[in-house]
Amino acid sequence: MIFALAGNQNSGKTTLFNQLTGSNQRVGNFPGVTIEQKIGEVTGKKDVSIVDLPGIYSLSPYTSEEIITRDFLLKQKPDGIINIVDATNIERNLYLTMQLVELQIPMVLALNMMDEVQANNGSIDIQHLREALGIPVVPISAVKKHGLAELMEQAIETAHQQKKPERIDFCSGAVHRAIHAVAHLVEDHAQKQGFPMRFAATKLVEGDAPVLKSLFLDANETDMIEHAVKEMETELNTDREAALADMRYQFIEDVCTKCVVKPKESREYRRSVSLDTVLTHKVWAFPAFLGIMLTVFWLTFGVIGNRLSELMEIGLENLSTVVDGGLTAYGINPVIHSLIINGIFAGVGAVLMFIPIIVVLFFFLSLLEDSGYMARVAYVMDKPLRKIGLSGRSFVPMLMGFGCTVPAVMATRTLASERDKKMTVLLTPFMSCSAKLPIYALFTAAFFPKNQALVMICLYITGIILGVLSGFIMKKTIFRGAPVPFVMELPNYRFPSLKSVLLLMWEKAKDFIQRAFTIIFLATVIIWFLQSFDIRLNHVEDGTNSILALIGRLISGIFVPIGFSDWRISTALITGFTAKEAVISTLAVLTGANIAELKDVMHTLFSPLSAISFLVFTLLYTPCVAAVAAVKRELGSVKGTVFVILYQTGFAWFAAFCVYQLGRLIW
Ligand code: GDP
Ligand code: MG
Repeated sequence: MIFALAGNQNSGKTTLFNQLTGSNQRVGNFPGVTIEQKIGEVTGKKDVSIVDLPGIYSLSPYTSEEIITRDFLLKQKPDGIINIVDATNIERNLYLTMQLVELQIPMVLALNMMDEVQANNGSIDIQHLREALGIPVVPISAVKKHGLAELMEQAIETAHQQKKPERIDFCSGAVHRAIHAVAHLVEDHAQKQGFPMRFAATKLVEGDAPVLKSLFLDANETDMIEHAVKEMETELNTDREAALADMRYQFIEDVCTKCVVKPKESREYRRSVSLDTVLTHKVWAFPAFLGIMLTVFWLTFGVIGNRLSELMEIGLENLSTVVDGGLTAYGINPVIHSLIINGIFAGVGAVLMFIPIIVVLFFFLSLLEDSGYMARVAYVMDKPLRKIGLSGRSFVPMLMGFGCTVPAVMATRTLASERDKKMTVLLTPFMSCSAKLPIYALFTAAFFPKNQALVMICLYITGIILGVLSGFIMKKTIFRGAPVPFVMELPNYRFPSLKSVLLLMWEKAKDFIQRAFTIIFLATVIIWFLQSFDIRLNHVEDGTNSILALIGRLISGIFVPIGFSDWRISTALITGFTAKEAVISTLAVLTGANIAELKDVMHTLFSPLSAISFLVFTLLYTPCVAAVAAVKRELGSVKGTVFVILYQTGFAWFAAFCVYQLGRLIW
């Protein structure tokens, strides 16, 4: 038995899904977090699964993640629908309910967030609501786990008895006549295509192009439908979409006046409004954002993360010494010894060392996200983003880009127009991903130990500014036109849940450790091999005659104008294409430095100026393979993907060139 979880964005679907299935999907106080359907088995109930779907406001989809939801409901035909409704916002949420009812699939309404309604002295007459809507209604609180057992019982019973919603007719007058006329006309077509008749009729009256197309009506029938609609429009003196919306809201209003005692203006709401007078203020919003981000960076790099990284460094160093001693005592073959100590320990260790920084940074970012602040930033960013031809909507994927470009590029599915989507995909690589953090952390610690946090934030901001610049160019050239209007609901500020914050930290750490022991491990071993042997596969003592040095020297010419003359640097940059952390592990392997010496060794390879040039180059140059694959998937074109690689690398080279050459003039 399969149940679909359908409801508005931010109504608590994923929270409910996690509670029912015991899984740990990402929950966010942020619309647009769930972008793919997720299936899970309900704990304690055999053969009952539920599917978490992206949030929708109506069954007329605009964005591709909304299409996922509609297609799932129409084509996969779940055994039942659990329609989750935010009780604190019941009028707007019921708008979707009324459309879901037309699908004639057994359905239960889960009235969520009842804890908040009750805490503010609101109440809802469940019995009345159930009679008015003709479907079972169960009050729940997904967070507090109230009413979940009743909900599942009710849902299973309804699906078992195949109890379809009892009522589909909420209309009257002219709309009623139009829908019924159309319904009779298309009944046979709807049946053939497997559409619920009533749904098809309503959508045709509303003027839904995809439904019209998939019903294969002949010209005569389309004509008759248009006549019926015209008649309705003239009689009501509005257009077709407004007529249906009016009809639905009229009904919802009637029901709600009868059975909802509105909660008092909630404490959460009042608190949100007063916080927002500053945080979304015309003038103060930007300094507030900058101040908050600076604090986060300062705490991460200046206070907490760095200390922890130092501890980690000492731990890894000791481990390496112990293993080193053990291997020497055992008298192992020197080549294997070198592989383990100079290859694996140096390479993988160089990356593992920075895990604390990443975990701490994501701790703060998820606090900001979970509290609802990031939704405000998206709102505030709408205006500046519009200047480069994007809307505040694009901020969500861009924000994710600071974590990892792969999910960020996937999140562009939430954007309504192809133009906005493509442009956002091209710009996300400018948001510096967390895999680059080890590079920044190492270099700033080596060259700017006093101003680490400051240099770090400058890098991030440089990325953003250059992204904006690129957006500007794109708007004037390949992406003319206007972005779609921006509508985003600002959720109340909530106290971040410890569980979801810890979960995100754990996921980040796990992801990093996994990468360190898979792709970084592999890259390290390959690099170690290429630098330990010459082209005749003789073991070389000194790396300068190795295969790798040969390759590195071939290409190092390109990098001389931007300040890197050593072949080891160009090699590190190339391995960075597999994963950004590999830049560090390669440098560690190639210099033969152990973890403690790594910082000092960087001074032999770089001057402070070429270190800056290096940071700028790594900030901007081509995203890693995984990200490139994601770009290819979303853009669907090889040409576009190659463009991304060349554009980013060219841009990076040019920026580093400017930095290095200007720096030389001044220094
Ligand atoms: P989705 O977008 O529908 O998947 O919604 P989420 O599950 O991501 O939840 C959105 C927000 O609502 C999160 O901040 C949840 O903690 C919060 N939330 C979910 N259920 C409840 C509830 O029953 N009561 C309260 N007070 N908050 C809830
Ligand atoms: Mg969700």
